[in-house]
Amino acid sequence: MTRLALITGGMGGLGEAICMKMADLGYNVVTTYSPGNVKVQNWLSSMEEAGYNFRAYPCDVSDYDASRECISAIQKDLGPIDVLVNNAGITRDMTFKKMDKANWDAVMKTNLDSVFNMTKPVCDGMTDRGWGRIINISSVNGQKGAFGQTNYSAAKAGMHGFTKALALEVARKGVTVNTISPGYIGTKMVRAIPADVLESKIIPQIPMGRLGKPEEVAGLVAYLASDEAAFLTGANIAINGGQHMS
Ligand code: NDP
Repeated sequence: MTRLALITGGMGGLGEAICMKMADLGYNVVTTYSPGNVKVQNWLSSMEEAGYNFRAYPCDVSDYDASRECISAIQKDLGPIDVLVNNAGITRDMTFKKMDKANWDAVMKTNLDSVFNMTKPVCDGMTDRGWGRIINISSVNGQKGAFGQTNYSAAKAGMHGFTKALALEVARKGVTVNTISPGYIGTKMVRAIPADVLESKIIPQIPMGRLGKPEEVAGLVAYLASDEAAFLTGANIAINGGQHMS
């Protein structure tokens, strides 16, 4: 039976690599994009040219009702979701002195509330069916904090608590819940950092001396989604080139 994997934010750097990896492994792949993102048709066409047949649904993952409606539409069209990858996220970096409520809320809602919003409507179905995988994409900066990221670090750290608590609740039902904490991966989110800052401040912090590759994170997602990973739950797996070890 072909499993259905939903990856939020599939048009982003990490999301695209995760969608491709899961499709390569034979999953049916569905993704979400921000409503109003006008690039979706071009992206779907370019993916199709590359041999990938993805379905994409508009969904503001920071909005509870919109998330429920989106999951409901996906499951009506494509069947039950077996693997949920909560990947969509944003940054709004600024020092705490400059941080206003709007930038705090935007990051908390998009990065942390979204995990509740998307997991809530799929989790009961997974436990009823006795199989499911929930994979949350956090960040090294949720583990160690980062200058200018009180909002992002708090949201990403919150994912770890969510993961551990939910993992306990569903452990006997065949559902695993895990978090991946990537370090700096060469996607547009990271390439938006000025090149001189990347070269002089970020890459020197990484013992491997390079950014990670989206495919490296996608490989870890694929493992966590697999049957082989059935005994692995409540974990936070760091993938950061040695930048932070805990
Ligand atoms: P991108 O900015 O490339 O992609 C982010 C994705 O999130 C986009 O597809 C975007 O969709 C989607 N998204 C943002 N807001 C919303 C929303 N409200 N509703 C629906 N979708 C939304 O980032 P990356 O691929 O680099 O990052 C992916 C995840 O990995 C994020 O959670 C990020 O925090 C995390 N991460 C990334 C690291 C890195 O080095 N790149 C390191 C550690 C963690 P759209 O374009 O349609 O708005």
